[in-house]
Amino acid sequence: MSGVVAKLRELLGSDCITDPALTDGYLSDWRGLLRGNAACVLRPGSTSLLSQSVRICREARVGVVPQGGNTGLVGGSTPDEAGLQVVISTGAMKKIRTVDPVDMSIVAEAGATIAELQSVAADAGALFPLSFASEGTATLGGALATNAGGISAVRYGSARDLLLGMEVVLPDGRIWNGLRTLRKDNTGYALKHLFTGSEGTLGIITAAAMKLAPLPVGREVAFCAVETEDQVLDFWMKLRAAAEGNVRAIEYLSGSCVELAKHEGCAHPSRKRITMCSSN
Ligand SMILES: Cc1cc2nc3c(=O)[nH]c(=O)nc-3n(C[C@H](O)[C@H](O)[C@H](O)COP(=O)(O)OP(=O)(O)OC[C@H]3O[C@@H](n4cnc5c(N)ncnc54)[C@H](O)[C@@H]3O)c2cc1C
Repeated sequence: MSGVVAKLRELLGSDCITDPALTDGYLSDWRGLLRGNAACVLRPGSTSLLSQSVRICREARVGVVPQGGNTGLVGGSTPDEAGLQVVISTGAMKKIRTVDPVDMSIVAEAGATIAELQSVAADAGALFPLSFASEGTATLGGALATNAGGISAVRYGSARDLLLGMEVVLPDGRIWNGLRTLRKDNTGYALKHLFTGSEGTLGIITAAAMKLAPLPVGREVAFCAVETEDQVLDFWMKLRAAAEGNVRAIEYLSGSCVELAKHEGCAHPSRKRITMCSSN
């Protein structure tokens, strides 16, 4: 492994990280349930550098583990314990390449967070509809690699439904450029959809073009209670009909989930106490 790491260091300099104090955060999952090891962690700053890194690993038959915000909850971005894999983080690839409120599209590098995309879109007078609780850390590449849904999927769909085009580094280091914003694209196979939801098994997403939506003119939020689970669907159908399809997001919390949020009994240190409000 030392030869491969030396080549990667020659290419990336200090963005090839081997210091255990600095690699630590990349080697375990968000909940701290899984822990792996890696020969090194790479933070390439461009598609070209990422491509060359993958090529070096491929030539040495070294496995790579793509990692975005590391918020996935199924261990996909955690290396195994052998210490023979290389983690490739997109943390240094965060550029927003274009935002176009006329074309209603945004093109960004894979390491941009979902919250950053929302913010840039809002500044341009548009909505980046993808939204979920880890949006401040989860990345565009990770969201596409997991086909993330979130609370707005009910109206705007999952990451796949918002995808227009993609740039991907393939397992041999070649760059596949499918980065286009064309909506009426009927040019043959939709390879971008093969990479969506593939969890990094087919390539590393380096950039993507995504749809924007018009900014909602108003927002109403309601926290409603129903007696039984059966009534949830009934309530949802009535709400959807009354709102004429304009419900932007919905989340169902079971009674035990609400109780858990109300009390400080939550064991996880990252969970903050939630104060429940009542209109009574
Ligand atoms: C509090 C919380 C709430 C969440 N809510 C939701 C939710 O509502 N809906 C939902 O779908 N998910 C949810 N998640 C899961 C998670 O946030 C999403 O799956 C998110 O999309 C992962 O993005 P990430 O950048 O953190 O990816 P990571 O965790 O870093 O990686 C996830 C997978 O994608 C691969 N990957 C990462 N980047 C790339 C890339 N550039 N190219 C190729 N493969 C890559 C990794 O190898 C791994 O297999 C939640 C997680 C938390 C912690």
